[in-house]
Amino acid sequence: MTDRLSPQEWSAAVAAVRELPRDATVLLACHVNPDGDAIGSMLGVGLGLRALGFRHVQASFPGPPEVPEPFTSLPGLDLLVPSSRAVAAPDLMMSFDAASASRLGELADRVTAAGTTVVLDHHASYTGFGKVHLVDPQAAATAVVAEELLHRLGVRLDAQIAECLYVALVTDTGSFKFDMTTPEVHQLAAKLLATGLQPSEITRRVFDTRPFGAVRLYGEVLSRTQLDPDAAGGQGLVWTWATLDDLARHGQHPYVLEPLIDSVRCTAEAEVSCVLKQVAASEWSVSMRSKGANDVRAVAVALGGGGHRLAAGFTAYGEVADVVAAIREQLDTDR
Ligand code: 5GP
Ligand code: MN
Repeated sequence: MTDRLSPQEWSAAVAAVRELPRDATVLLACHVNPDGDAIGSMLGVGLGLRALGFRHVQASFPGPPEVPEPFTSLPGLDLLVPSSRAVAAPDLMMSFDAASASRLGELADRVTAAGTTVVLDHHASYTGFGKVHLVDPQAAATAVVAEELLHRLGVRLDAQIAECLYVALVTDTGSFKFDMTTPEVHQLAAKLLATGLQPSEITRRVFDTRPFGAVRLYGEVLSRTQLDPDAAGGQGLVWTWATLDDLARHGQHPYVLEPLIDSVRCTAEAEVSCVLKQVAASEWSVSMRSKGANDVRAVAVALGGGGHRLAAGFTAYGEVADVVAAIREQLDTDR
């Protein structure tokens, strides 16, 4: 599907798997707060490796081991282990959707401890960690790279693997709406659907279902949204924030806030949007989106994070007003 990675890189990745005895230990890891692309690509490849006969495949992610509700019916969940139980020095490690080893949190030490590490990713901010780099910034999702690898390994695409990769692809293309939604993306979607998937069921479960408490929480958080039409050189910045107290009052898990940015970024009067999600007393996980003119990856990188040109994030410390001021300043610096 993609021919932007060098043949050498592909053959190194294929050899890393093919030359491994079937009783070798394999650890698959994806980034903290896994989204659909991270967890879907990881589980899809995990199921593929199992189909190839590998008997000791673990999949894991850092932080709380609970699988976010939208992904609790993905195939392959039995591959998951809490990071505390992840093998310390796997024969092979594969990393998914993480641009830097730090995004793997407490699993980052396996990158060097492993016999070899193959990285599957699509971030332009990829730091180059790991040994074999299947990293294609032109790919719409890590799942695009994952599917190609499975194909090259001779794995038959079954409905279970396809469902994992479909969820990944739909997540990172914003349901086939974003920039990177090329003809190849639709061709891949067609290939995945042809295994017998029911897209309406899958997408309702994954994207269009949330608890009543989350609906009320969204109402409250959206009602405090701020707009500054003068920011970003007059193109406008819109932002809101959600605190741990908001979550507690509505009895919700942090992951229900992941799609919040989609409700904020539709603001017509702003080119750039951001959502601050509190993770500790003075700590925020910041999501940013741009409609095109502004490079939010540059903003995120300047503030210690990363991502894509139109979707990026970072961890911030301090008060909401200070974090927003830092973003504003960075947006102005960029022009
Ligand atoms: P989201 O806003 O959906 O959480 O993330 C959007 C993009 O920004 C993703 O591609 C993600 O990899 C990147 N991103 C989000 N938060 C962080 C962060 O704290 N550090 C880095 N390096 N990238 C982030
Ligand atoms: Mn991704």
